Amino acid sequence: MRKPGRVPSVPDHDGNAEKITAHLEAGGVLRTCPVSQHFRDLLRDTRPQWWASVLKKSNANRIAIVRNTHRDKMMARTHCMNGHRYTEETSVIRVRRGGAHLVRRCLLCERKYGSTPAYQMEGVKAAIEGAKSGRTFAELTSYRHNATRVIRRNQLLQAMEDKPALVPILRPLFVRNRATKHKAQMQRLSKGGIFAPTSDVVFRAVEAAVPHTLLFQVRQEIVGDMFVAVMEGRLGLDDLGKRWQEFARNANRMFPKYALPSFYAPAFREGDTSLIETISDGLWT
Ligand SMILES: [Zn+2]
Repeated sequence: MRKPGRVPSVPDHDGNAEKITAHLEAGGVLRTCPVSQHFRDLLRDTRPQWWASVLKKSNANRIAIVRNTHRDKMMARTHCMNGHRYTEETSVIRVRRGGAHLVRRCLLCERKYGSTPAYQMEGVKAAIEGAKSGRTFAELTSYRHNATRVIRRNQLLQAMEDKPALVPILRPLFVRNRATKHKAQMQRLSKGGIFAPTSDVVFRAVEAAVPHTLLFQVRQEIVGDMFVAVMEGRLGLDDLGKRWQEFARNANRMFPKYALPSFYAPAFREGDTSLIETISDGLWT
């Protein structure tokens, strides 16, 4: 009677090797081989020389599959990225990586790679109109300003290079527009249409109005008070230079030049009586 347990498998090495060879001859790779990993491993251990040739063949087949798949996709296309039709005359197949990779190139596109950017006169006209109506260079050319962009940056630059007469027209406009836009960003209109500067503008104006000769902490106090006063509407931006002294007086009250005397300081020029001993009312009641 047989002992219980797994029946040991008897590998058919010759049959498996034949299957693998046939699979590879048909262009397959080991990954898709009909012989299982277990029996392949046994073959690898028993026939190392043959296994080396199998690996080589499988690898070559794998590269060929990748290349052919890519080539089929490539050849299935009828037009290039820019819409030129692929014909015998307009396309060429180039070999890359020693034959491992093929690329199909459009000759119409390749001819343009080294040339200067082409631009349409409508785009240039639109850019001039935009500049006259207050748009900045970036607003007219940058992809960040999708709503107002009318021409590509290098195209407009090329147009200005081709037609130097454009430069003295466009450049001052762009400088002005950028300055205007910057100012508009620094300031903002309030709901009532009243000019309301941002906190940054106020702070800089106050900083400029208060002299730098003051003690640092005193000056900080004055600037802070004035800033709050402007934001609360108690102080106008035009009055900063005239009225900073008022705020300086407040600050001086906080940082007096002569500090309050100690209670234990002598009350008189002669004698040991301290100031606190002279106080009779108000302290203890
Ligand atoms: Zn093309």
